[in-house]
Amino acid sequence: TEPTAAPTQTTTASATLLDRASRVIPGGVNSPVRAFRAVGGTPRFIASATGPWLTDADGNRYVDLICSWGPMILGHAHPSVLEAVKDAAAQGFSFGTPSENEVKLAEEIVSRVAPLEQVRLVNSGTEATMSALRLARGYTGRDVVVKFAGCYHGHVDALLASAGSGIATFALPDSAGVPRSSAGETIVLPYNDLGALEAAFAERGHEIAAVITEAAAGNMGVVPPAPGFTEGLRRVTAAHGALLISDEVMTGFRCSASGWLGREGVAPSGAPDLFTFGKVMGGGFPTAAFGGRADVMALLAPQGPVYQAGTLSGNPVASAAGLATLQGCTPDVYERLDTVATAIAGAASEALTAASVPHTVQWAGSMFSVFFRDGEVRDYDDARDQDSAAFRRFFHSMLAQGVHLPPSAFESWFVSASHDDAAVSHVLDALPAAARAAG
Ligand code: PLP
Repeated sequence: TEPTAAPTQTTTASATLLDRASRVIPGGVNSPVRAFRAVGGTPRFIASATGPWLTDADGNRYVDLICSWGPMILGHAHPSVLEAVKDAAAQGFSFGTPSENEVKLAEEIVSRVAPLEQVRLVNSGTEATMSALRLARGYTGRDVVVKFAGCYHGHVDALLASAGSGIATFALPDSAGVPRSSAGETIVLPYNDLGALEAAFAERGHEIAAVITEAAAGNMGVVPPAPGFTEGLRRVTAAHGALLISDEVMTGFRCSASGWLGREGVAPSGAPDLFTFGKVMGGGFPTAAFGGRADVMALLAPQGPVYQAGTLSGNPVASAAGLATLQGCTPDVYERLDTVATAIAGAASEALTAASVPHTVQWAGSMFSVFFRDGEVRDYDDARDQDSAAFRRFFHSMLAQGVHLPPSAFESWFVSASHDDAAVSHVLDALPAAARAAG
């Protein structure tokens, strides 16, 4: 039942919805990158999705390479997740008391991520990083935080400087509305630059509560840590009594059964003090987590003085969706993700080479992105030095042929285990024309 390419795509229904949305929702969207500002054109309003396919309000079908920006690792409306959600919802939606589903989800996460001793469930990746930061500050009694340019950790005030993702897409240095006092507590350093980290610690080490990093960066396009970078972060933070927070919101349970650090093979002695997770662990529902060393987590209320809470935290339906998704993430699933990603990225590179379009493909497990430039991308400056007009042309050709890429040159492409051979072929067939359009 795979659709054919749709050269005569109509977008009337999406355009009408955007018009209605724009009257009551700023920019017509509830998260900026959805608005297609960087690529132009009409964002597609999705009416339904199953497996690897999206169907928009006009009835056009697309192979989905956004996968909700990561969560839909098993594909859309996966039968076992759907079943778990229905069963949980039938028992009630939210209690505001503890319930078993959240315990099961926490147990599953802790069992998958070896160095993790405890987690607390929250509702979004933003909440996870915000809470981890507060906890690190409470634990160390220090205020300053180090982040890396191009890494995005959600829209937390202190972390919105040089933040990649939508901030990169819209070419903003940071966000208006962040108090100077809050931004002043943040040191932004180049990613993959241990020398810069050592220099910052030499100067202000006694003030630094934490270093937060994307375990492998995916929000400036995919930029994996250079050899030795992950270990260097651990060494420098430990030497100065600062905590290391590994943000695995995007990479967690996607790059491997645990995440990027599991794939990279980081030893328990090199483990970060705190982790953050989101996306895959909610299976498309609003659930995320932060966690780590038990002695640090012990500082959280109600045991300790660091306050953190949530009306819907540990929601039983979201927890059931997350648990069913993680349980579905078997070794076969990771193998399939790698196969699909390799096929698509390889074919994209071949098509772009054939069309003489400068490009570089970079990987973090099955997460990958295509930079429209020559040469390795090691940091945010490199990532921003690409031909975004070429990306725009490529994106729209793919879209017109029924393949929905992330509408920004600064994002990872995501695949799911439901991307079967028909879906992959559909993508491969679209690539040569898109590459010629880009050139
Ligand atoms: N951290 C990372 C690495 C992310 O990629 C994201 C979202 O893209 C977040 C944090 C924020 O998560 P959320 O959008 O659920 O608030």
